[in-house]
Amino acid sequence: MSAPTFDLGKLHGGLRLDANKHESTARGIRDVPVPPQLVLPLAQHVGAPAQPVIGVGERVLKGQLIADCEGTLGAPVHASSSGRIAAIEAWPIVRRFGDRAPCIVIETDGEDRAVEAAEARLPFTEQTPDVLAHRILQGGIVGLGGAVFPTAQKLIQAGTADLDFLILNGVECEPYISCDDMLMRERAAEVVRGGQVLLHVLGLDTCYIAIESDKPEALRALGDALSSIDDGRFVIKQVPTIYPSGGEDQLVQLVTNREVPSGGLPSDVGCLVQNVGTAVAIHDWILGGEPLISRVTTITGPGVAEPMNVRARVGTTVADMVAFAGGYTDAARQLVIGGPMTGRSVTTDRVPVVKATNCILVLSERALDGPERPCIRCGNCADVCPVQLLPQQLFWYACADNEQQLRAYGLTDCIECGCCDLVCPSHIPLTADFRKAKARIQELADEKARAERARRRFEARNERLDRERSERERELAAQKESAKRAGPAAIADILKRRRKGKD
Ligand code: SF4
Ligand code: SF4
Repeated sequence: MSAPTFDLGKLHGGLRLDANKHESTARGIRDVPVPPQLVLPLAQHVGAPAQPVIGVGERVLKGQLIADCEGTLGAPVHASSSGRIAAIEAWPIVRRFGDRAPCIVIETDGEDRAVEAAEARLPFTEQTPDVLAHRILQGGIVGLGGAVFPTAQKLIQAGTADLDFLILNGVECEPYISCDDMLMRERAAEVVRGGQVLLHVLGLDTCYIAIESDKPEALRALGDALSSIDDGRFVIKQVPTIYPSGGEDQLVQLVTNREVPSGGLPSDVGCLVQNVGTAVAIHDWILGGEPLISRVTTITGPGVAEPMNVRARVGTTVADMVAFAGGYTDAARQLVIGGPMTGRSVTTDRVPVVKATNCILVLSERALDGPERPCIRCGNCADVCPVQLLPQQLFWYACADNEQQLRAYGLTDCIECGCCDLVCPSHIPLTADFRKAKARIQELADEKARAERARRRFEARNERLDRERSERERELAAQKESAKRAGPAAIADILKRRRKGKD
């Protein structure tokens, strides 16, 4: 069946930024050797952290499950090489709140021995969507575009929606980051095979592969991969190179001309978006038997001697990664994990590469220069906001801690793209303020939910006690009534039995 075509939708706002990608795309993806020590955080995904299923001192093999999760909103963690569990302890990591979290530390043995492959399975086309979704969960697969939402959970949720399209997101619009571009150039066939698995799980027959028009090599590689398999369900959609056209909602708008409603999901307008890296991870696990234990990461910026893209084991420290890329230059001033717009500054390179790490950026100057000044209400921030928010109003209400107005002005729709920061002549760190405000709102919501749970528990207990009291009173009344009818001997008997019961 041939796929329907659409005119490209229009992205509101956004910015054309200097790409700064050619330095890291000048050479092919290189493999970082397995380091002597791997540090694997238990929480590398949205949802509760995984729980260790191994103990300190145990030997593990590459691909072995070392931490598991309950339910589907989580992702198991696998050993990314063979060795011995040296510790399970708090370690510096990159995350939203706090800077340390429990990690499993593996002392590698240099042998890189893998767990034995499971016996041959049926071709994926002969497996049911439920079985495949469960296997995707077992492979520890999460969204590799940065959100790290457990892929199985996304597929299960999508099962209840009325979907029309799968969109594979190859739009890597943030400056400096080029890992998806290189992945599409070098592993285009696996992107498509992973897409085929997803189409089968979702029961869909249209997959758009979205890619920016300034990525000719990746476009060519994908075109070649598609002609070699002759699968008419795939359509390549070129989108303009504007930041942040790779945001999920923005991409849906661009590719299908459908607008994701405020507070909604792409599935509300019939779309499911997966990153091209996630498609490759699905290919490697479902068709190759390797869980998510490595990923392609860009190491770049003026502070790195040889910018490049590498395939690294999850758990390799940033220090090992930068050393592999020739080390720091004299210009190195700021270490950012992620891109310059959405990444997070860190003060140590002991943090490990996790499933979400798409870029290690070493800058020569701090991103936001200049002292912060009062807002002059120029409106630049509103002009570039891709979600059509009013950042200057949000900033005002964030300063006033006014949750009601923050909600009314759509703070929860902010995708933290950083466009408003970049154009603000007053150097106000708007995105950081919005992140903090969102965290406060989330805390309040969690507190409210906790109080509500406690209230319900209290009421349920009182109801139970009332019920038991009424039952006892009813029983006593019935006993009295029957004793009255039976006479003094029966009363003496009841009193005797009650005394005995008390003894
Ligand atoms: S860009 Fe900065 S100064 Fe201009 S309105 Fe927005 S917050 Fe105010
Ligand atoms: S960070 Fe939020 S408010 Fe600022 S431009 Fe991006 S979406 Fe709009």
